[in-house]
Amino acid sequence: MRRKFFWLCLFLFFLSANHVFIFSKPAFSCGFEQYREIKYTRELVQGMNALYDSFKETGLSKGSDDLLAITNAGYGHLNGEDSIGFLDIITSVTACTQGTKSLLVVHTPEYEPLWCALYRRDNGNLFFIKWTKKGFVRQKINITPEKIFKREAWKKATKGIIGTKNLFSIVTLAHSWSKNVPWKLLKCAQFHNHICPGLNAGYIIAEYIKQKFPLSRGENYTFIASPPSCAADAIQVLFDSTAGKKGLYAKHLSRKMVQKYSGNLWFKNAPISPLIVIAMRLNKALNSCEGLLLGFDWKKLFEDTKTDYSQFAPPQGKKDPLYFISRASLSLKLASMKLQNKLKYVKVLKSFMVPASLSLKWAGSHNDPYEDIFQLGKN
Ligand SMILES: [Zn+2]
Repeated sequence: MRRKFFWLCLFLFFLSANHVFIFSKPAFSCGFEQYREIKYTRELVQGMNALYDSFKETGLSKGSDDLLAITNAGYGHLNGEDSIGFLDIITSVTACTQGTKSLLVVHTPEYEPLWCALYRRDNGNLFFIKWTKKGFVRQKINITPEKIFKREAWKKATKGIIGTKNLFSIVTLAHSWSKNVPWKLLKCAQFHNHICPGLNAGYIIAEYIKQKFPLSRGENYTFIASPPSCAADAIQVLFDSTAGKKGLYAKHLSRKMVQKYSGNLWFKNAPISPLIVIAMRLNKALNSCEGLLLGFDWKKLFEDTKTDYSQFAPPQGKKDPLYFISRASLSLKLASMKLQNKLKYVKVLKSFMVPASLSLKWAGSHNDPYEDIFQLGKN
């Protein structure tokens, strides 16, 4: 009996040892044994120290849910070299990561220097660092809407190293993030480098297309963005319909023509085009194309959100902080609204069916596609 028990134990031991072996092998082959260190340059170490000082100033502990890092690391340069290693430094210092949606990587030109902002959600404090000829320079701003949405406060902040473009970019991203907007919208915003009403409209229209105009087997999308607007960037990101892959064509359209084709969506002194995109579902094998001319009811949105849209186009243009404050303020209002309530601003101005070859001709030619679309069915 004892001998039988011994053999049973031995059998179970082998079984369990084998079990550990079989199931532990994949765990060892997932990459941890290939851990790599970034190459620390003198500038990266300087950046790490500047970031650490800013992080200490936030008063938050590592991994806090109230902390967001926004950076152009990987796009901007660090003393003429690539800045990608700084992404790992941000995570080491703050524990912010892309996987936890606490690290946003913003698209900027490669000639722009590296910068990073730490934003504290609960008190609105923002700590900005940027590479300059003098090394890393820091700036602290409070970006709560009550404070930063005032002309003087905005102007004062832009006089620092952050500048107008990055202030608008960071304020709009931080505010929308603090309202827990969907990751998809933040993804569009990282490509577009800010969140504005136009990008929101593109995101909302993409959701409309997904729900009401989905693809069937053998079909793909082609878009004509005319006039080109911020909305086109959201559509390119969400459908991978990029201009480079002939998924989206951007075409200029005069204001007079925008007014002509916008129908009821047009209103006096409209600061943004109500025409957003011509969405087309193509089946090239069957030479068929179904299309929707999609517009956005800005007038209704301005009314519902009590937005004074004259501030979108102040006489001094971008020199007046109101140009940016009005856009940031409406984006914050949109961030607080439910998607279902935003979809009602999407309007189908016309639907059509044509051969795919004709729609591709519209996309590729210099002609105004709306003229042909509105002529359909008239002859
Ligand atoms: Zn924009």
